[in-house]
Amino acid sequence: MAFVWWSAPAPVASIATKPVICSVRLRPCATNANTFGRPFRRGRSHDLFVHLPGCHPDRPSLEALFDDYFELMPAYQQVELEQLEFRRALFGILPAYRQSPLKPTWNRILQVGDSSGTQSPLSFGGFGALLRHLERLVTSLDEALRADCLSRSDLAWINGYQPNLSVTWLFQRAMSVGVNQRVAPNQINDLLSTVFQVMDASGDAVLKPFLQDVVQFSALTQTLVKTGWAAPGAIAPVIPQVGLGALLNWSGHYGALAGYSLLHAITPGVMPRLEALAQSSSSPANSLRLHQWRALLRYGSGNDYHGG
Ligand SMILES: Cc1cc2nc3c(=O)[nH]c(=O)nc-3n(C[C@H](O)[C@H](O)[C@H](O)COP(=O)(O)OP(=O)(O)OC[C@H]3O[C@@H](n4cnc5c(N)ncnc54)[C@H](O)[C@@H]3O)c2cc1C
Repeated sequence: MAFVWWSAPAPVASIATKPVICSVRLRPCATNANTFGRPFRRGRSHDLFVHLPGCHPDRPSLEALFDDYFELMPAYQQVELEQLEFRRALFGILPAYRQSPLKPTWNRILQVGDSSGTQSPLSFGGFGALLRHLERLVTSLDEALRADCLSRSDLAWINGYQPNLSVTWLFQRAMSVGVNQRVAPNQINDLLSTVFQVMDASGDAVLKPFLQDVVQFSALTQTLVKTGWAAPGAIAPVIPQVGLGALLNWSGHYGALAGYSLLHAITPGVMPRLEALAQSSSSPANSLRLHQWRALLRYGSGNDYHGG
C-alpha cells in the first residue's frame, strides 16, 4: 500500500487561504486521490495524494499522475496555471505497512517516527503522530534502559499492537481502487462527504480526534451507526469494493479496539494489584511489560487524546 504525493507551493494572493481537502477521481486504475491545499506565511502549498493498494505495472506512471495533477489543479484551486508562480514541485511515494507499528528486527535497535510506521495510513501527519507518542516512547525507553531489557522481543512491546491504528486500514482501502476494479465515479466522494457530514453533525468529540488522527471506539461506532442509518446507499458499495476478507479482518481489529477501550477503563481499579504482583516476581521485565501494556491500552484505544 502506498501514497503518492505531489506538492507545489504556489504564492498567489487570489487563492483562498482556507485549507481545502477534496477528493478527486483520476484515471480508472490510478484510483482515488485527495487534494489538500494549505496556506503558509509566504504562499500556499497544494498537495495531491493518491492512495494505491499496492504497486502494479498497469498503474499509471508517476509522470502521468503528475500530468493529472496539473490538469486538475485549476478546477480545484480556481486558478489558471499561468497565474501561479511555482517555487518548488515535489513528488514521491510514501510506503505504508499493514502490520504497523513495525516490530524491531535486531536487539538494542528500535525504530521511531516514520521508520516505525506509527502513523495512520489515512494521513500524512507523521510528525504529529511522533509527537503524540513521544511521552510513551521516552518513558518506555527510559524504563527499558534502566532494566536492561533491550532484546528484540523486549523492544517489540514498545512498538506493540494498537488496534486504533489497525482499523484505519479499511478506511484507506475504501479510498483506493484495485487495478481491475471499477467503481462508480462518485462512490468514494459520496462516502467521504457522508462520513464527514455525520462526524460534523456529531460534534467536536467525534470530529476533532479523527481530524487529529486519533481513532476512538465510541466516536468510530457512532459514526458507523449514524452513517449506516443516514446513508446505507453510500456504505453498501464499499463491501464488494474492499472485499469480505478485508471486512472480516477489520472486524477483528474493531473488536480489539472495543477490548482495549474496556480494559483501559478498568485498569486504574486493578492496577495496584497487578503492580504488586509484578513487583513480587523476580524479573524486572514483568513490571516493565505491565507499564508498556498499560501505555499501549491508552494509546491503542485513543485515550491519549484530550482535545485541543
Ligand atoms: C509533503 C509532506 C507534507 C507533510 N506534512 C505533514 C504535516 O502537515 N503534519 C505532519 O505531522 N507530518 C507531515 N508530514 C510527515 C512528516 O514530515 C514526517 O512524518 C516526519 O518528518 C518524520 O520524521 P522522522 O524523523 O521520523 O523522519 P525524517 O524526517 O524522514 O528523518 C529521517 C532522516 O534520516 C536521514 N537518513 C535516511 N537514511 C539515512 C542513512 N542511511 N544514514 C543517515 N541518515 C539517513 C534522512 O536524510 C532524514 O534526514 C509531511 C510529509 C511530507 C512528505
